[in-house]
Amino acid sequence: MKPLMDTHGRLHRDLRISLTDHCNLRCTYCMPAEGVPWIPKQELLTTEELLRVVGIAVDAGIEEVRLTGGEPLLRPDAVDIVAGISAMESAAGPVEVSMTTNALRLPKLAQPLKEAGLARVNISLDTLDPERFKAMSRRDRFADTMAGIDAADEAGFHPLKVNTVLLRGVNDDEPVRLLHWALERGFELRFIEQMPLDGGHEWKRANMITGAEILEKLRTEFTLTEVPGRGAAPAELFHVDGGPAKVGVIASVTMPFCGACDRLRLTADGQLRSCLFARGETDLRGPLRDNDDPNEIVDLIHSCLAGKKPGHGINEPGFLQPPRPMSAIGG
Ligand code: SAM
Ligand code: SF4
Repeated sequence: MKPLMDTHGRLHRDLRISLTDHCNLRCTYCMPAEGVPWIPKQELLTTEELLRVVGIAVDAGIEEVRLTGGEPLLRPDAVDIVAGISAMESAAGPVEVSMTTNALRLPKLAQPLKEAGLARVNISLDTLDPERFKAMSRRDRFADTMAGIDAADEAGFHPLKVNTVLLRGVNDDEPVRLLHWALERGFELRFIEQMPLDGGHEWKRANMITGAEILEKLRTEFTLTEVPGRGAAPAELFHVDGGPAKVGVIASVTMPFCGACDRLRLTADGQLRSCLFARGETDLRGPLRDNDDPNEIVDLIHSCLAGKKPGHGINEPGFLQPPRPMSAIGG
């Protein structure tokens, strides 16, 4: 089997799948209050189609799968999908399945997901203030999110990673408080720079809190020392006060890590993307439904990879935000 290598010498092992574009929150930096034009139901991959295409991708060289969205746990078959994928064998061993979620459905699903083979969970939490949470997510669900975090912790998803997006003038006074909380709970906190991927197209560079600013704020209270050996991971990790606790910064905009990217992305409607910021997509749903020839799907995966650019281009003149928002690509 030909390796999943792009024309820039990057070997691809990781597939990010958006299970749905729907969400039970409306985070201001992600979706407008009224939501976005939803993908028509008949265009969504069925459970069976999704597992078939992942199986083909695994045979082609994928070793790790992350399920995201939208909110992946809104999909009624989320646990079955986890079970189906974690039963697959890649060249490197069993496929490792992880998930990024807002945690709202975890009180009910953390244990079944663990039993289905989910290896890791990343939970998004931007603030420890219930009123701010309501303003930032446009939903009064802070207590439910915290209950979801507790459920994931109790189900044994360790180390639990927590993702935070800081917005200027909204929650940019919270990184130190959030890190104290994460350290107390034994969680690994990671700050993500806000990217131009919001459904409302309102991202402005000047409003973005940069990775450098975040580190400066954290260093007022903690000693941070860089952890070597980042590999293809998006987060630059730092030991906090000598370790072993760690904190991460995902500076996608100001310190891009495209040179080590090993990720492909599949949308809920079966479109393969080589990058969050790609403007083109490769349709796998049509061929999957029309003739279901695994060799044709593998060829399409390679043709998508062949078009992968060396970088996301956010910092180049003429950059255009992709037509799909983050919630429909899968973050
Ligand atoms: N709904 C799930 C959640 O929030 O964890 C999964 C999907 S969400 C799109 C995945 C991650 O992307 C979350 O951590 C969220 O904070 C982040 N995100 C969403 N929009 C973003 C943006 N414009 N810039 C940076 N991160 C963003
Ligand atoms: Fe939903 Fe996640 Fe987007 Fe928030 S960041 S609106 S939880 S998809």
